[in-house]
This record gives sequence, structure tokens and C-alpha cells, in this order.
Amino acid sequence: MKVLVVNCGSSSIKYQVFDMTDESVLAKGLVDRVGIPGTVLKHEPTGKDEVVIKKDLPDHTEGMKLVLEVLVNPEYGVIQNMEEIGAVGHRVVHGGEQFADSTVIDDKVKQVIRECFDIAPLHNPPNLMGIEACQELMPNVPHVAVFDTAFHQSMAPENFMYALPYDVYEKYKVRRYGFHGTSHFYVSHRAAEMLGKPFEECKIITLHLGNGASMAAIKNGRVIDTSMGFTPLEGLVMGTRCGDIDPAIVFYLMEKLNMNADEANSYFNKKSGMLGLSGVSNDLRDVIDAAASGNKRAQLALDVYHTRVKGYIGNYVAQLNGCDCLVFTAGVGENGIDTREAICRDLDYLGIKLDPVKNKVRGKDVDVATDDSKVRIFVIPTNEELVIARDTKRMSGK
Ligand code: AMP
Repeated sequence: MKVLVVNCGSSSIKYQVFDMTDESVLAKGLVDRVGIPGTVLKHEPTGKDEVVIKKDLPDHTEGMKLVLEVLVNPEYGVIQNMEEIGAVGHRVVHGGEQFADSTVIDDKVKQVIRECFDIAPLHNPPNLMGIEACQELMPNVPHVAVFDTAFHQSMAPENFMYALPYDVYEKYKVRRYGFHGTSHFYVSHRAAEMLGKPFEECKIITLHLGNGASMAAIKNGRVIDTSMGFTPLEGLVMGTRCGDIDPAIVFYLMEKLNMNADEANSYFNKKSGMLGLSGVSNDLRDVIDAAASGNKRAQLALDVYHTRVKGYIGNYVAQLNGCDCLVFTAGVGENGIDTREAICRDLDYLGIKLDPVKNKVRGKDVDVATDDSKVRIFVIPTNEELVIARDTKRMSGK
């Protein structure tokens, strides 16, 4: 069975085609600037040269049409005809409280995705646009939604409730949801394999450190806490998001900087984090380079970043009452040798000891803890698309 995995952003379509007989990737690609002049499709068929097609496309349906044409192209396509695609998996950011697992998409599911527009205005509308475009073009195959929030739905009320008047939870569903669920799911299962223990018996702390960043505490196969909340803004310091701050700062700065709610939203989501604090960049590599050449603000930003992560490790070790392993993943987690070292420094009281020699590694599954470290420290490249493909196969019953 072949599965097409689709991840639609507001002006982009990412896709991968899997052959599920051996879970190999036949092709992957990206359509960028959908609906904006200068649309470009980059298609990478496995084992062949990349193909670049420039063609202005007004919307996601036209974007998906081009993707499907490319997939069956006799020269650089990877399937003979569309009938080979047995199911389509869609990444959907917010599933609210309704979905603790992936699901086959019907009108009711689309309605729930629509109801979450309010709380995920940047992600759910393009996700639904992608679903509808694909359904129009491939009406005879199952379409499956895989939610970023689903894995975190196991959290107990003491972890997902905010100390706000209870009726805002009942009326507006203001609570903590957590995101990056498919990534935390993938790396925690892989970590259990590397520990040689059943997933249901492990205590795992996952660190998804990318431009967006979140952590999760996983006990006996269930997420018990995660650092992102009602939206992805809560928790760690990120590329452009501030993470945890005193909420009083929001209304204080709205007044001082004369910002309305939309402007404040953009300020804390797009102008803060490593970019705002360092004044250099949201890209951690740039901040590291600037700090190395003596930029004090860049160094301060790194110190704040590392300290926040350490604080969450302590929090999660306490909540888990111990820990079998830390798992570093995503752009920074997989590649940031210095970042991993700084985060794990002086955590030996908790049984966390990183081996600086083993740690000189990028982008592969490896244990970088010292032999006598009580807690294993894994680097595991994430693979959200594979989780989506597997769930799509499972949910479509093929
Ligand atoms: P992602 O969102 O998962 O694609 O991760 C993007 C982030 O990974 C950016 O902030 C990059 O600077 C960061 N990154 C990539 N390579 C490295 C590296 N070698 N050291 C530190 N950060 C890195």
C-alpha cells in the first residue's frame, strides 16, 4: 500500500509518498508560496535528481493538482497512476479535546477542525484547506487526520487546567493542549526500543528543540505533562516565541507600546524568543556564532534558553519520580552539540551525565550519556511523516 502524507500551511504544501510494504519514502517535496506570486514546487524522488517547477498557483487545490501531476509524471514521478495511492494522511495541528487518536475524516471531523479555528487560527484553516483540496482530487480513498494535540490528551486535569475561573474552560475550552505530539510520540517509542524496555514501563522526557520547541514527560506510555499549552506560545524559549512569562507583562506592554490584541499576539509570537532577546536572529546557529564572537546579548539569550530547558527537566523528573532517559530531537536537539552539552551540564545530582566525546554527533539515533549515567541521553532524529503514514495505514484498515 502507498500512502500520501500531506502537511498544508497557509502558503505551503509539504508532501511525502511512502511505500508501506517497507516504509520507504518514494518521494518528498514542497510547494512554496501557494497563492503568492512566485510559487515554486521542489520535488525529490528518492534516488533521482531534484525537480524544480515554477508556476504561479492561486490556491491549495491547484497546488495539490500540480503535486499529483508530478507524482505520476513518466520521467520523475514515483507511481504509475493515482489508483496506487491507498490513503492520504493529513497533519492537523489542533484537534481540541475530541481526538486522542488519529481518525478517518468525515464531515463531523471537519466540523471539529473548523471549531478549532479560533484557538489555532494560523494552522487549522490551511490544514482544512489541504484536506478539502485532496478530497476533491482523490474522492475515493480514505483521508486520515493525525493531530499534533492527540498524544497529549492523556494529561490529567491537574496538568491541563489553568488556575482561571472554571467557566472559561467550560465555555471556551481554555486549557492546556500541547503540540508537536507526533514528534514526541515517535521519539519516545524509539527511545523505549533503545532502552530495551516496553514503552508502557518507561519514564521518558522528550525535548523537541526546533524553531518551535516543546518538552513532554511520558510515564508508562502516557504523556503526563508537556510544556506548550493552550497555544504553542507557552513553555520553552523558542526562535521567535517568548515561552513562559508573567501574564501581567502582556497587558502592561499593550498599554506601553500601544498594541491591540492582534499586535500583541504577533509581538509575543513573532518578535520575541531568541530573536527578540539576542537581537541577532531566530536561528540558533546564528545566535551561537554571535555569542562565540563576543556578542553579550546573544550569550544572554543562550543562557536563558538553556536555563528554561533545565528547569523543565527538573520539573519533569519530579513529576515522573525518576527518569529512564532524555531524548533530544528536532533541528537544535539533533544537531546542537553545544546546546545539548549546556543543557545537561551540572545535572549529575539527577543522574544525568553527558559524555562530551559521544555527544559530538549529529542527526542519528545514538546514546550520548556516560557509561555510569543513571539516565540515558538519546539523540533521535524525529520522523513525524512516518507516524502520519503509519496511522493512516492503521486507521484506513488497509
Ligand atoms: P527545526 O524547526 O526542527 O527545523 O529546527 C530549526 C532550528 O534548528 C534552527 O534554529 C536552527 O538554527 C537549528 N539548528 C540546525 N542545525 C543546528 C546546529 N548545528 N546547531 C544548533 N542549532 C541548529
